[in-house]
Amino acid sequence: MQGIPTTADVVVIGGGPAGSSAANLLAQKGYEVVLLEKARHPRLTVGESLIPHFWKYLDELGATEDIRQAGFIVKTGGTAIWRGRIRQLALKSFGYDRPPLHVERGEFDHILLRVAQRQGAQVFERVAARKVHLEGPYVRLSYEVLDGGGDGEIRCRYVIDASGQSAVLANQFGFREFDRDLRFMSIWGYFEDSDYVAQGGLICPWSMRREVPPTTVQAGIGEWGWCWHIAQKDSSSVGLVLAPSQQAEFKTLGKNLEQRLIEYCRRVPVVGDLLKDARFVPDSVYGIRDFAYRPTQLAGDRWYLAGDAAAFVDPINSAGVLTAFYTGSFAAMSVDSSLRNPARREYFATVFRELVRQRLTLFRLSALPEGVNSYPEDYPIAVRAAQLDSAREQELLLAQTKITDRPGNLAPLYALDNRLGFTESDKYKEVAQLTRIVAEAPENLDRGIDEPQLTV
Ligand SMILES: Cc1cc2nc3c(=O)[nH]c(=O)nc-3n(C[C@H](O)[C@H](O)[C@H](O)COP(=O)(O)OP(=O)(O)OC[C@H]3O[C@@H](n4cnc5c(N)ncnc54)[C@H](O)[C@@H]3O)c2cc1C
Repeated sequence: MQGIPTTADVVVIGGGPAGSSAANLLAQKGYEVVLLEKARHPRLTVGESLIPHFWKYLDELGATEDIRQAGFIVKTGGTAIWRGRIRQLALKSFGYDRPPLHVERGEFDHILLRVAQRQGAQVFERVAARKVHLEGPYVRLSYEVLDGGGDGEIRCRYVIDASGQSAVLANQFGFREFDRDLRFMSIWGYFEDSDYVAQGGLICPWSMRREVPPTTVQAGIGEWGWCWHIAQKDSSSVGLVLAPSQQAEFKTLGKNLEQRLIEYCRRVPVVGDLLKDARFVPDSVYGIRDFAYRPTQLAGDRWYLAGDAAAFVDPINSAGVLTAFYTGSFAAMSVDSSLRNPARREYFATVFRELVRQRLTLFRLSALPEGVNSYPEDYPIAVRAAQLDSAREQELLLAQTKITDRPGNLAPLYALDNRLGFTESDKYKEVAQLTRIVAEAPENLDRGIDEPQLTV
């Protein structure tokens, strides 16, 4: 492809949140950064419910205003319907001053990629990284320009693999293994005109989603599975996460994936009611199997893994995009330190490996169904990440696990360090039943958000 240089300081593989943030931050530091992205953005991807900490990363990327302008739907917290109980968590009560969002990920990721370009990263779309050669003093990366554009090679001092589930480096070198405890399948699609759930246990019509912002709905299915409902700007994303034991029943429900998804979702408590008068967006059904895995290595001499290319767990806590930002910016910081001080590059890689493993392990443990962890060696690793979190972050994690009946996953961490805020939280409420809002929002309604923030 015309314009792809033959050398660069850093090559980033993949232009999702992990890759665009790594490329952005390194370009800001003045490095020559080349980002290769297989798709053409905007490309469709899932993972649309964000948690509030993501704003601090957008500030560093210089993307805050771009994301504000896009007018995504504000989210006020979560509603969990779990084993017959309805519990709601309001993020406002944790003291976050900027509310999180429900985002169309195609648009969100596209904006971040363009911002990375604005900061100086050279972005090439429809270019697939094929093979990484780590021997020798430089990294060599071979790529294919899609649509018949031919092959090429680029030489660089560092490579950051942020290729998501494709995990180019981890697959090539065997740096990951499937997670024994998490063999899930996920199927999702999009509905127009769906009702949604707001704070105060209110069911609202689609037309009110800006006036009375939604919560992310999570409905448990049996012992293992769950269903999400995320009201966005243009439609609602509704999907299932099912364990292998639940997949046989799913397959009996219709002739094709679309029919099965619609039928299954309509049977899920609360979500079925929200979808009663909704229309499925034609051809909008997607699926992914066995998507959870654990890293065996995270960084080495001249290479780093970031985002889903490093690890992935059940997305129950909506932490995937946040983890992509965290690992993308941490990889960028480590590469920058190594380029400025090459003699200490092994030290910087070691720090990355240790801190990222701790963080990923904490997220994994908190996302597991209770009592199924077959890696007990993870507890002393995860406890270190928890110790680095603020009291507010610890309480949010506890409340997230409480509303989906899995706080027992945090108990072994509390046993290791009883200063952690993993026992009590009053920041979620049990709701006896959901009620439909009357024609318009009453004056004194607690929207779950302070008024000026509605314009975010
Ligand atoms: C069912 C499900 C529900 C989820 N729900 C949530 C949620 O509610 N909230 C949340 O925060 N997270 C959620 N996630 C997780 C979230 O989607 C991911 O963690 C996030 O997208 C990771 O970002 P990333 O940049 O690492 O990877 P991606 O966003 O996947 O980006 C990787 C990029 O690399 C490109 N690429 C792939 N191969 C190559 C190659 N060979 N060469 C060049 N480019 C390549 C791809 O085209 C892609 O653009 C969910 C995930 C799943 C599966």
